[in-house]
Amino acid sequence: MTLAPDTVLLAARVHTLDPDRPQATAVALRDGLITAVGDAQQARDWRGPGTEVIDLGTATLVPGLVDGHSHPALGLEMADGTDLSPVRDLDGLRAALTGARRADGWVVGWGLDHNVFGGRPIHRDLLEAVLGPDTPVFLRLYDGHSALASGAALRAAGIDGPRAFAQRATVVCDADGAPTGHLVEHAAMDLVSAIVPRRPFTERRDALLALLSAMASTGLTGAHVMDAGGEVLDLLRAIEDRAELPLRLRIAPWCMPGIDRDGLDALAALQGTAGRNWLVGGVKFFMDGTVEGGSAWFEHADCHGQGRDGLWLDPAEYTAAVHHLHAAGARTATHAIGDAGVRHVLDSVAALGPGGRMRHRVEHIESLPPQQAARFAELGVIASMQPTHGAYTRADHTDEWSRRLGEERAALAWPCRTLRDTGAVLALGSDWPIAHFDPREVLAHAQLRRTPGTDIPPVVPAQALTPLMALEGYTTHAAIAAGEADRTGRIAPGLRADLTALALDPLAVPADELAQSPVALTVSNGLITHRSS
Ligand SMILES: [Zn+2]
Repeated sequence: MTLAPDTVLLAARVHTLDPDRPQATAVALRDGLITAVGDAQQARDWRGPGTEVIDLGTATLVPGLVDGHSHPALGLEMADGTDLSPVRDLDGLRAALTGARRADGWVVGWGLDHNVFGGRPIHRDLLEAVLGPDTPVFLRLYDGHSALASGAALRAAGIDGPRAFAQRATVVCDADGAPTGHLVEHAAMDLVSAIVPRRPFTERRDALLALLSAMASTGLTGAHVMDAGGEVLDLLRAIEDRAELPLRLRIAPWCMPGIDRDGLDALAALQGTAGRNWLVGGVKFFMDGTVEGGSAWFEHADCHGQGRDGLWLDPAEYTAAVHHLHAAGARTATHAIGDAGVRHVLDSVAALGPGGRMRHRVEHIESLPPQQAARFAELGVIASMQPTHGAYTRADHTDEWSRRLGEERAALAWPCRTLRDTGAVLALGSDWPIAHFDPREVLAHAQLRRTPGTDIPPVVPAQALTPLMALEGYTTHAAIAAGEADRTGRIAPGLRADLTALALDPLAVPADELAQSPVALTVSNGLITHRSS
């Protein structure tokens, strides 16, 4: 005799995404697992004296939505201090700096748009004119890949001239060799960010829990976290000392250029480290930077003559690192935005020979010719994309991203549909804090190729996904991308109790409406993490 379920969920429809039983109206849960799938009639027989029955009425139940690419703790750290994203010009920046809150004497800001400088060099002069020569200042620019530091901040970090790095990164210096304060790419930014005062640990722990709860209220049950920065493992342990995590997190620490054999072995050893609702699974690489920053790696230069280099000084070292981790059984995920960057990742996986390639994935893939897209399915490499990043471009190609790449490559933007039509696994996500984490918005954007609720012309509408393809990107394909399709991603007996109930049917309603659908219920790992009142 089987034990009665803790919980029975009843809904107008259940899209299980399980080919053995695609539709249902009732699901039973016990001890964090799905124990039965059926209809209301059967549900009456499942119930025991302690069973809670939750009738979701007209709502639609789907497998739990998982964000395939997110940065919760690092994102909170990157958004510390004064929000400079509303600043449009230098006067606005002066005003924001004058009014900025100081923490331990430092002024810290984020979200600064390159366009604020109106084509002038990005220079610390302005910071020092407003705040004096002795105030340490650290401002993160909008793209997350560069920053501006004052002279006092540079001195505190011991920076007085150019530096050499194991990756492509720059301490920008003037003709006399003095640093301008502009720091490009992580290795350069980290010299200063490492000494910027941080909020107390308990404050960061509470902020992370609040963020994850907000994510759960949008229907997310899990996320693939593409960094182990911001002390995320310590924060997760501290949260689980007192509470349950609202999202199941799968964490991929970074493997950066210059890593040695011991570093690779340490990354491999970290795999499987876990708490109750999180685990370290995967290793994150960067093959290149960003299109707007001129640091994406393309086969042909952009209109500024940039975009011809990867982040690794020697791409063969990237390949060797992936092969080392592959042999150790670790899954890799590589940020590759330009077509040459993607090609190099695919070539590196192809060189492994057949077998076991399914564990490797490519993140972002912003412009790619169809013949390279077809290689994903051939090689069993997983694509992971963020449709809402397309909102930074325009259909008429007058935006910075499109201008840099030119007509031909802008027409190959975010090739989601080509990847699916050629048989690739395609996980979808937000890359929060680069775009909003709300999965309803991403699901809608993937179908519309524009921001839902607007009449903005769609960007390359031929690359739109069907409603089912979009939903699979957050469920079944996200589970394959994580290597756990046998444990989650569908609604079937024996799988983890990760479920999302939406007021509107994501496979039937127009995408603009789906973006506004209330979330009736979120269940992560058997725990109710959100329930509408
Ligand atoms: Zn990312």
